[in-house]
Amino acid sequence: VKFEAKPREVMAKIIKTEGVCLASQRIGETSKLVTVFTKDHGKLMLLAKGARLPKSRLGGALEIFTHCEIIFYASEKKVIYTLSSADIKEIFPSLKSISKFITAYQVIEAALRVTKLEDPNFKFYNLLLTTLRILDHLKETYWEKLQVLLGGYYLKAIDILGFRPELYRCVLCGSQNLNYFSISAGGAICSRSKHLQLKNKDLWPSSHLKILRFLLKNPLITIINSSLPDDTYNLIKQYFLYYLEAIPQEKIDYFLYLKDIK
Ligand SMILES: [Zn+2]
Repeated sequence: VKFEAKPREVMAKIIKTEGVCLASQRIGETSKLVTVFTKDHGKLMLLAKGARLPKSRLGGALEIFTHCEIIFYASEKKVIYTLSSADIKEIFPSLKSISKFITAYQVIEAALRVTKLEDPNFKFYNLLLTTLRILDHLKETYWEKLQVLLGGYYLKAIDILGFRPELYRCVLCGSQNLNYFSISAGGAICSRSKHLQLKNKDLWPSSHLKILRFLLKNPLITIINSSLPDDTYNLIKQYFLYYLEAIPQEKIDYFLYLKDIK
């Protein structure tokens, strides 16, 4: 006697959205597991069954850096959803060139690390897409040019994620006499409050403040016409990494979700 499994009461919804492909890995013999940062649902992990088969329509749209339109089945209590279709909306062909790949990859990697699954963030989605578009159009690809774009992206990401540094008054006492910047304090510091800031290595000259204000106030398309000194870039990168630690990283048991995939 064969027992038929009772149909589980799972509400599967068909959802259409668009997003940027952040990562793509091979699963089984013919499938792909892709991570897409979507416009409406935040970061999603999607299983593209058969995407690596020669005739699959899914494949091309699921390359990293691709802006695609997707349809997937969302069911409750799942971490990985099944992709139904994916179509290319926009490609950024120059991002795979030697001169731009590393920068584009850093943009994508940061997006993977700072965002949580199914946590929609339209502002971040826009920032990600805008950064990739600008990078794709960029004619000069010397490091200074890439550095100002990357620095602007990191700082704006920090802002959007809720860790905007205080740049106009002392974070410890409110004074507007600003002498330093401190990563761990989260912004500007005056000379009177300096002794409260225990980590002396984390006191950066106030000359950075003006540049940080400029980067936060202006759109990326304006920013790329300016330049960003190496030490300010380092400050932004360190600030970014410091606050990244405050964002919990997901631990996903892939095996649990992917065990039956061919
Ligand atoms: Zn102070």
